[in-house]
Amino acid sequence: MRIGAHVDATDPLHEAALRKADAVQFFLTDPQKDWKAPQPREDAALLRASEVDIYIHAPYVINLATTNNRIRIPSRKLLTSHAEAAAAVGAKGLVVHGGHVNAGDDLAVGFDNWRKAFVQAAETGGHRTPVFIENTAGGDNACARRFDNLARLWDAVGDYGVGFCLDTCHAHAGGEDLLDVVDRVKAITGRIDLIHANGSKGDFNSGQDRHDNLGSGTIDPELVVEVIRAAGAPVIVETPGGVDGQAADIAYLRDRLGR
Ligand SMILES: [Zn+2]
Repeated sequence: MRIGAHVDATDPLHEAALRKADAVQFFLTDPQKDWKAPQPREDAALLRASEVDIYIHAPYVINLATTNNRIRIPSRKLLTSHAEAAAAVGAKGLVVHGGHVNAGDDLAVGFDNWRKAFVQAAETGGHRTPVFIENTAGGDNACARRFDNLARLWDAVGDYGVGFCLDTCHAHAGGEDLLDVVDRVKAITGRIDLIHANGSKGDFNSGQDRHDNLGSGTIDPELVVEVIRAAGAPVIVETPGGVDGQAADIAYLRDRLGR
């Protein structure tokens, strides 16, 4: 089982070594504001050849569900350009959040917008890196916070080979119990491609996307271990505390999982 961390993009392989990680996830652009396509990376060949598994997290500005054309259309382009740039570094997956519609909008339109994004990509040969949709923690109009909505999202996109990334903080803070979460997700998606193994500063169902270290916060870390064991998927910790905090979380998981 591969276990790694979300790290700074400057030198991901060095960051991996510091944490004894065998996987890394990073951003290719500024996730909060960049709408431009990623630039080619000088270390692309090194990353491709590395023993370390690479995952790319898409920018937060992307919202493929929204009814706002001025967000949705550039979001499709940005996801496509990230899938291409992620392929250039040999990434195994491109993680993108489930998105949301605006208050008062019909969620059904949001699910259909998701479907259209994959239809459009399929017309040009599909995304160059497998896309993993991640569950989110907050909001009343989210496509992938509550699993009743996740099921509707999967009805829309499930035929397009899309993957799923399960974030333990987001599930807990989003109001989905971690005890049987893997079975319930797999009943919907049929797959879990990546686990974001995070503690949560926010309470159950608080809607707060505030990651914590394993063993701190409101999630029993043994529950996170059980989720990983049940899912059997690669793991990325997106936890605070820099090298020390993340290395401790990785070491804890390796110890508990016997890997
Ligand atoms: Zn996450």
